Amino acid sequence: MVQRREKVAFVSHCILNQATRARWEGGGASRERGMFRDVVEVLLSHGVGAVQMGCPEFSLYGNPRPPRSKDGYDIPEFRERCREIAEHACDLMERFLEGTAPPGFRIVAVLGVENSPSCGVVRVSRTVEGEIVSRPGRGHLMDALEAEMRLRGIDVPMIGVSFRPGEREDGLRRLGGLCSGEA
Ligand code: SF4
Repeated sequence: MVQRREKVAFVSHCILNQATRARWEGGGASRERGMFRDVVEVLLSHGVGAVQMGCPEFSLYGNPRPPRSKDGYDIPEFRERCREIAEHACDLMERFLEGTAPPGFRIVAVLGVENSPSCGVVRVSRTVEGEIVSRPGRGHLMDALEAEMRLRGIDVPMIGVSFRPGEREDGLRRLGGLCSGEA
């Protein structure tokens, strides 16, 4: 019998636990009940496990918390928390990549959440003229992860999924492609 490598994805915390999504009086970040079902279904359909990374926003500020952009979270306390989470995630990545009996593991992706000030991969919320708007760029946690992965020579694709209609399908399609590949 041909043994296949096991597959895992490192996922932003709220993908598996929507309770950490920001809530504030009169509103909150877009969310679903429980988990981000579409993402979980893609992972399950390809037999990919999920490693849940820490949520920097919830772990520092809980819920409710006011909406903030990347600029609003650009403070030492927050950047330090992101660095800690990134280091821990990379420690685990190294365990999977180096410390597992053959045929080993493949980490298919680091999966962030677009338009988040922390977990955005190609879209991040910024403050422009007093308004919070979506702009190209990475969130603080994804910045920290990218830096830590580069330092350790960990080469894993980073992609984001989105709760927004119109953006959601593209992220899910790309995730499916990464999950199904054997490279
Ligand atoms: S900081 Fe990241 S994990 Fe936490 S709620 Fe926002 S997008 Fe989700």
